[in-house]
Amino acid sequence: MPLALARKYRPKSFAAVAVQTHVSATLKGAIARGRVAHGYLFCGPRGTGKTTLARVLAMALNCERRAERMDGEPCGECASCRRVWSGSVSLDVVEIDAASNRGVDDARELRERAMYAPSGDTQYKVYIVDEAHMLTREAWNALLKVLEEPPPRVVFVFATTEPQKIAQSAAPVLSRLQRFDLKRIGLSDIRDRLRDVLAQEGVPADDDALAMIARAADGSMRDALSLADQVLALGDVAAVTADRVRDALGLVPEDTYLEFLALLAERRARDVFPAVERLADAGIDFGTFLAGLTDLIRSQLAVVLGGDGHDLSERARAVVVSYKDTWAAGDLLRMLNAITELEPRFRKSSQQQLLLETLLVRCALLDRAVSLEEVLRELDAPGGAAGAPPLAGTPVPAGRETRTAARGAGSDAASSAVSGVAREAAGARPHPDVAVPVRVAREPAPPAAPAGGPATKLDAEGLAARWPAIIERVRRNRQSSILAAALQQSEPELGTDAASVTVRLAERNEILLRAIETGRSDLLNAVRSEWPAVVRVDVALPGGGAASGPPKRLTAEAVKAEQVASLRRRDPVLGAAIDALDLELLD
Ligand SMILES: [Zn+2]
Repeated sequence: MPLALARKYRPKSFAAVAVQTHVSATLKGAIARGRVAHGYLFCGPRGTGKTTLARVLAMALNCERRAERMDGEPCGECASCRRVWSGSVSLDVVEIDAASNRGVDDARELRERAMYAPSGDTQYKVYIVDEAHMLTREAWNALLKVLEEPPPRVVFVFATTEPQKIAQSAAPVLSRLQRFDLKRIGLSDIRDRLRDVLAQEGVPADDDALAMIARAADGSMRDALSLADQVLALGDVAAVTADRVRDALGLVPEDTYLEFLALLAERRARDVFPAVERLADAGIDFGTFLAGLTDLIRSQLAVVLGGDGHDLSERARAVVVSYKDTWAAGDLLRMLNAITELEPRFRKSSQQQLLLETLLVRCALLDRAVSLEEVLRELDAPGGAAGAPPLAGTPVPAGRETRTAARGAGSDAASSAVSGVAREAAGARPHPDVAVPVRVAREPAPPAAPAGGPATKLDAEGLAARWPAIIERVRRNRQSSILAAALQQSEPELGTDAASVTVRLAERNEILLRAIETGRSDLLNAVRSEWPAVVRVDVALPGGGAASGPPKRLTAEAVKAEQVASLRRRDPVLGAAIDALDLELLD
């Protein structure tokens, strides 16, 4: 059997590691300057390059030509580099799968082994602990002792998909590790890499075919290459085409997904049953189908929030954009929540068809309610500029308090889905033009970027000054209106150490907290574009509390509570009406 692509094309240098340039640049610099930390934590979804980076780090530290090469890159050619790269037995680089070495005994043994000096005077001993969140608390305690007094030239690299679990079981260890959050690998990056690899294999490939593999790989470069293996394994492949990919991977045709999206958008609940029946007849795996449909709904949400649907095919983008005004963001969010809730049960169920049908009928019949987007726009909008793109609030000079006419719930009837009763109550108030203070963004207007590139020294003043630019960068890079909106409701502060920034929310709000938590690595990247030395971004609640632990799940109830609270804030008259009449906003 030919060598698997993922293995054959495994990067041999930091420069070759896809996407994670923010991490590799920092690591390379640390090696070049001889300032390597004793412990690293690489966090990120599967297949994003955690172990690969750890191996390149180990190669660089033990490269025989390290002294000649000043740039911190491994040569990739010397005996040591080749040994580490191929994963063959090495005295100095030890890979441990925590999933199978969970116990305290293993950690003790590890500790004892770590006490032995590396094999040569210039060598480093590198322990790569994969799936580190699987280690027990006792194992962490044993490791903590090593990290408290690290032997010279011993480096631990912990890789995990679930850093919050480590935060729960081993907080003191976490504070001794330099943490890097690896980015999920985007479709276009995966596509480019696939094209490159297949070209080196001498196999031409269609763009559509590459996009299909990339989508199926779901952000994992390793999966993408394995799927490419699978397509090539069909044998006698002259070219990688869309049809061939579909055959090899058992993919669902795009049109099928678009048909279901239309069905949901047009609320044709009764058509659910024959449509699912056709899926069954075509032998389509329901789990695969549900995952694909979830992706499409997610893309629809992104487009509704102002994204451009760049990760979709041209055809799908046209359809999704045409439904832009059909959906409220809140509805799509609730659908996604419903799917996520169902998923664990779905995988194990012997009644998948029934579960799928019920889910889709529920989604098709979903009451369209007050949209999350609208709530955030209210929180976000200084002066509530009508016609502005959703959530794209513009910063207002510091200290200015804007008074503006209240936007009655009735004035925006088309997009507001406040129940008719509540709308009427609000509209019936005597003075529709009552002025109420509206929260304004506190950031000063962004100063011009300093000449000669980004600022180098991180201080509170510079942080405050560059914050609007960072928010703008987040908004641009990710089309993430929610994250950007959440950041506008926050103040940046210097972290407890010189290399971190704390984002403090102006108010305790689950939606904003979650938006920042989930977008943390994007935020970190934006901050790094100004101050490359920053390695961590924390989120804090108002009044000094740290937002430790994973945020609560964003439930429909929580969203609704926030919505009601927000409506009250923005419109005291409506608030009073709700109190007086005991109205509930319809769900
Ligand atoms: Zn080398």
